[in-house]
Amino acid sequence: MRYSIEGEDKMKKLLCLILTLTMLLTVASCSWFGPEKYYVGEDIAKLIVHFIDVGQGDSTLLESDGEFVLIDAGERDYGDKVLNYIKNRGADELKYVIATHPHSDHIGGMKTVINGIDAENFITVETDCSTYTWTKLLTAVDNNDINYIDAEVGDTYSFGEATFTIMGPLSDGYSGYNNYSVVTKVECGDVSFMLTGDAEKESEYEMVAAGEDLSADVLKCGHHGSSTSGTAKFLKAVNPAYAVISCGKNNDYGHPHRETMQKLNALGCDIFRTDTMGTIVACTDGKALTFSAQDSDLTSYTYNAGEDRSADGLNYIGNQSSHVFHYSTCSGAKTMNEKNKVVFENREDAVKAGYKPCSSCNP
Ligand SMILES: [Zn+2]
Ligand SMILES: [Zn+2]
Repeated sequence: MRYSIEGEDKMKKLLCLILTLTMLLTVASCSWFGPEKYYVGEDIAKLIVHFIDVGQGDSTLLESDGEFVLIDAGERDYGDKVLNYIKNRGADELKYVIATHPHSDHIGGMKTVINGIDAENFITVETDCSTYTWTKLLTAVDNNDINYIDAEVGDTYSFGEATFTIMGPLSDGYSGYNNYSVVTKVECGDVSFMLTGDAEKESEYEMVAAGEDLSADVLKCGHHGSSTSGTAKFLKAVNPAYAVISCGKNNDYGHPHRETMQKLNALGCDIFRTDTMGTIVACTDGKALTFSAQDSDLTSYTYNAGEDRSADGLNYIGNQSSHVFHYSTCSGAKTMNEKNKVVFENREDAVKAGYKPCSSCNP
């Protein structure tokens, strides 16, 4: 009897020792090896884009060669999560902080972030917004001596081995703040990302009309995948291989909207969503792209920039007999009798020709 109690004691001591050693090793490995390193194949990533899961909101952290850029910071409740995420990446400073527009699902958490870590520059577009959250943020920018920059289309900024260029907004006088969103194109080598905030149809049309090179390998979909963004013209111009949608689980707005998903599918995009996958990380060495996601077995999904992609999928097919038009991917277009088919380059042409949109694919 006595023997067995002693045996139990020894076992407990041994277990304690193993537990202590494991804990020590975990703590040591964190401080010895620093934040998680990201690779593209064998090579260390030159640009890492973190689409941080902030529920129904937006927050994107760009990282290159130890320099960091934060675009939006989610609602106020997510400020600490975003700040901790940035610190866990080993950042002690943000080179640029971009507030795309004054809505709280983008800038609510930003005050917490800039009060918790040094920031060099703050970029935004001036609006007449005077909400409590927005004015408090501007006060915090001032109090922390952060350099205020008014976003100018065409201006390019560099961080590490990457750059970002302001693509929009191209005008003002919009109704609502979404179209004022600072739109950025992030580039590293041959790989590019288009990040559009909540920019809607008006801003998208202006960017297409301006004739700038909008093409990008990855599009972070405008306005959480709402149908008010992601016009066919704009999607065709960007022609992304991958689309990332930042939205909350079972959100009140029904984001992403069915129309957006259909258009992205028509483009042949792979679609990644924070509401189903958690935080999504894209890495590039300037040539290839690798994606990983927190709540998904998506671990190394590699695509080579410059792979031939055609945007032909997003045409409009009209039926000359019924005068209804569809996306080329709609079953109504696929099963249509060849002799009735007419192809439209864009929606406007179809409407002008007197065609009505299909009630199922809603082109
Ligand atoms: Zn918004
Ligand atoms: Zn938003």
